Amino acid sequence: MHTAPFQLSLFDPQLARATGTRPLPTREEILFKADHLAHRISSQLGMAVRLSVTDNRSTMVSFRRATSSLRLRVHHMFLDAPERVVCAIADYAGRGQRSAGPVLDDYIRGRQPLIRRDGDPDSELNPRGRYFDLQAIYERVNQAHFLYAIQAKIGWGRMPGRRRRKSIRLGVYDHQTKEIRIHPALDRPEVPAFFVEFIVFHEMLHQLFPSSGRSRKVHHPRDFRLRERQFPYYEAALRWERQNLRVLLRG
Ligand SMILES: [Zn+2]
Repeated sequence: MHTAPFQLSLFDPQLARATGTRPLPTREEILFKADHLAHRISSQLGMAVRLSVTDNRSTMVSFRRATSSLRLRVHHMFLDAPERVVCAIADYAGRGQRSAGPVLDDYIRGRQPLIRRDGDPDSELNPRGRYFDLQAIYERVNQAHFLYAIQAKIGWGRMPGRRRRKSIRLGVYDHQTKEIRIHPALDRPEVPAFFVEFIVFHEMLHQLFPSSGRSRKVHHPRDFRLRERQFPYYEAALRWERQNLRVLLRG
């Protein structure tokens, strides 16, 4: 039992429109995590925080400060944010520190596939690209490396906007929905199949080896890394990424 110093509007029309095909948290999970997030920010700032969770396409964080409370609206991607990102939200929205902005930008950039696409509110998970069929790759990898033990859905993520990309995640795995999203920049003829396969393999490994650690999450535990190195084209994939990724993301 507690009295939460925030308010959660679960009837955001945009959130209501979204379906379960995208990695979206359930309502119970939103409530639970939003409660937790609001308390963390509230205790950092020493003021009441009224938090709303959105499924916005462009505004990921917005806020209004009053003398003794903070009205905060954040995209649902922040419900799983690590400690330093939560601190950045508190600094940015509660303390007016603009220097916290880049931390939030980086986090948002890494979670692009969670953002609803323009003109496509439902954002179906589609494995068919122009050059690569992710479903076929997934099945091949599942047979060759996992003896069909992985159970996940797979599709291409959304195309990010035109802003400059400094860092990027080529794939995302969502434990709750068991969905893998691959960055659409990889759906090109100049990208070797073994590289796409490696990225799919990597995301599948996340189902097998969930993040460990409590206060500080380790997203790639030791066993994960050991297993990843067993991929036949591991070295070649890392080399290809080093040599080509920047060019690929610019185009
Ligand atoms: Zn990973």
